[in-house]
Amino acid sequence: MPSLKQGNSLKVEEESNFLVSPNGTFSSGFYKVGANASCYSIWFTNSADKTVVWMANRDKPVSERRSKLTLHGNGNLVLTDALGSVVWSTNTISKEVMELQLLETGNLVLRNQDDRIIWQSFDSPTDTLLPSQPLTKNTTLVSMRSQGTYLSGFYNFKFDDNSILFLIYNGPILSSVYWPQIVSTVFESGRNPYNSSRVAILDVAGQFISSDNMQFYASDYGVGPKRRLTMDYDGILRLYSLDESAGNWKLSWLPDGVDACLVQGLCGEYGICTYKPLPTCTCPSGFSLNVPSDWSKGCSPPFNLTQLTQDTSKLDFLELPYTDYYGYDLETYQLGISFEACRNSCLVDSRCLGFGYALDGLGQCYPKSLLLNGYRMSNVKSILYVKIPKDFLTPGAVQSKLEAHDLSCSAARFFVSSDLETEKGNGNQYMKYLIGFVSSFAIIEAICIGLAWWYVFRKQAHEELVNMGYMTLATNAVGFKHFTYAELKKVTNDFKQEIGKGGFGTVYKGVLDGERFVAVKRLEGILQGDAEFWAEVSVIGNINHMNLVKLYGFCADNNHKLLVYEYLENGSLDKLLFSDVELGLEKRYKIALGTAKGLSYLHEECLEWVLHCDVKPQNILLDDHLEPKVADFGMSKLFKDINDEGNGFSRVRGTRGYMAPEWMVNLKIDAKADVYSYGIVLLELLTGKSASILLSAFAREYIEHNQLVQCVTEKIRVEGIKEVIDPRLHHDFNKKKLERLMKVALLCVQEDRSARPAMSKVVELLLE
Ligand code: ATP
Repeated sequence: MPSLKQGNSLKVEEESNFLVSPNGTFSSGFYKVGANASCYSIWFTNSADKTVVWMANRDKPVSERRSKLTLHGNGNLVLTDALGSVVWSTNTISKEVMELQLLETGNLVLRNQDDRIIWQSFDSPTDTLLPSQPLTKNTTLVSMRSQGTYLSGFYNFKFDDNSILFLIYNGPILSSVYWPQIVSTVFESGRNPYNSSRVAILDVAGQFISSDNMQFYASDYGVGPKRRLTMDYDGILRLYSLDESAGNWKLSWLPDGVDACLVQGLCGEYGICTYKPLPTCTCPSGFSLNVPSDWSKGCSPPFNLTQLTQDTSKLDFLELPYTDYYGYDLETYQLGISFEACRNSCLVDSRCLGFGYALDGLGQCYPKSLLLNGYRMSNVKSILYVKIPKDFLTPGAVQSKLEAHDLSCSAARFFVSSDLETEKGNGNQYMKYLIGFVSSFAIIEAICIGLAWWYVFRKQAHEELVNMGYMTLATNAVGFKHFTYAELKKVTNDFKQEIGKGGFGTVYKGVLDGERFVAVKRLEGILQGDAEFWAEVSVIGNINHMNLVKLYGFCADNNHKLLVYEYLENGSLDKLLFSDVELGLEKRYKIALGTAKGLSYLHEECLEWVLHCDVKPQNILLDDHLEPKVADFGMSKLFKDINDEGNGFSRVRGTRGYMAPEWMVNLKIDAKADVYSYGIVLLELLTGKSASILLSAFAREYIEHNQLVQCVTEKIRVEGIKEVIDPRLHHDFNKKKLERLMKVALLCVQEDRSARPAMSKVVELLLE
């Protein structure tokens, strides 16, 4: 499609409906970024992985149903989601006639009749700069959050206030420039900070030039290859050229001296960044990563140092070769400090957590108050000593410590053997054979260890990557937290106050941060591994709607799997509806409408299509104003087991009386099963009778033969609606509202699921 005219839309469902640049280099349309999640994007048509160069809504993907990009008659280009809410727009309201075009440069433009550009994607880059696209004082390249996760990440390439182009890690807690490394290198590299203009451009031949004199050429300089300059997810800015025959990208430039492991705060407290080959955070031996998938949370030692610092005889140091932690020096000692003096100064200073000692022979000593920004590289000419309790050197820890020594020992062994050879010459054949034997044994051993390491590393690296992806999802949820089991024990006062028990575990009341009440659900029988559990929980944690109970966080400590929800003061609907509490028609109607909105969001709007599978009054919680919030959604995902055949509902969820007929005949379950259960809840709201009583109140044989609709209709026909509804509503008789509720209820509980309305339709009907 060459262009989009006013009054027309590109719809997410119509996959073949997208814009193409005149020679076909770029395409622009909806790009799938996750399960039921799309972003309006521009991508290279001929790269093998359809590399994205721009996104309109990278942080707010839209559903793959009913989302669309529309060029309105008033000139505004608007992206709307399934419910018609505006997710992104160009804000270009004008009386002029306009057209949306994708240019051969990869620039998406809104043009008027005179060919004047009213809006262009080049003005709002995401992580990529294309040839001829200027980078200005108003624009920044922002990396993706992680590989394959298109959300905005933390690495930026932009001009600073001195008009110098720089790379910065702009994390939630720390922010730190990591290239160029120090100001002097700005001058050394011929850059010019005293410049008021800020503009940089990559030309079509592969030359990059900026107003601060930053200049480089693509290694394949010349007109021809298609190129892109991308702020990559790992914090490195790279220029790529496309090999069109294979569709692959080749690296054609990257900045000198940029080092992702030197990005501050990356690995958190005690964490150490090392290349494996990608930057990876590890912990000192015996310490553990606090959150394996969130490196910035750092590592924890298995001891509490503060209790021990008074008695120096109980302290020791763990040696970490080739390692340094940046900053937090208590004081920099003058040159010529002996190792012993340096060690002692740290030992007796309770503020000192460790010290670095340089190996340059100058006697440089760096006692540290915090071990942050750690990195290990073969070119680091210092050893870091971490303060530990003496008894921490258990056989396991000693082993780890020896492993660290081994690194230097193997080098020493090499020197010793060559020394022996040169010093003793041919005179000591026996020693030579011995060394030869030991060396070959060592080589075989090294190969075996190498192979084992490769296998384990591959697996770990995969798990790390998987976890990183899940973490990205998890942290993306606002306020979503990973709790330790110990924290939740504290929050619930050792699981003291039970507030309910359900099919998946017990729910306890707790207090978070001393002020917020929470409901902590202790799950039983979770078969999933931690990573999968994290993934599913992340999905639930990302779902936010005023009619859905908010998941604040979770705990996955070995066998302990817990979910932490917002606490709802008024408890569940069953407790109100089937008690003496007065619940008038207006309140019931509000509960019916809010519940429908919550379910509609789950079914049609939220990015991961979630079926509830257990809609019932026990799972409809009420806040202070009796606004309903649907609870327990996503449980079918958490409890899917190994027999699951891909639909995620292997274990029959649901409660007798609320389950749609298709559950009984083993049909694949879809959103209409929730609609049926919702219909039963409406009948309960109308009649004031619980589903089990309904079973006997209405002719049992009707219901057991799935003829609920006929049964209730017949009853209303014979006895009138007033006789069927809850007698407590007789004084509150609003015929119109009651009939509307009844009509919706009967539509929802039809045996033929295709005749049941979708939840969004239910909302519409109730709002009529
Ligand atoms: P099932 O597990 O079969 O869905 P259920 O919904 O009754 O049954 P749970 O979700 O474990 O089981 O909840 C048990 C009870 O705890 C609920 O019925 C409700 O009364 C109470 N409850 C659960 N979550 C909360 C919450 N966030 N705030 C207040 N009360 C809650």
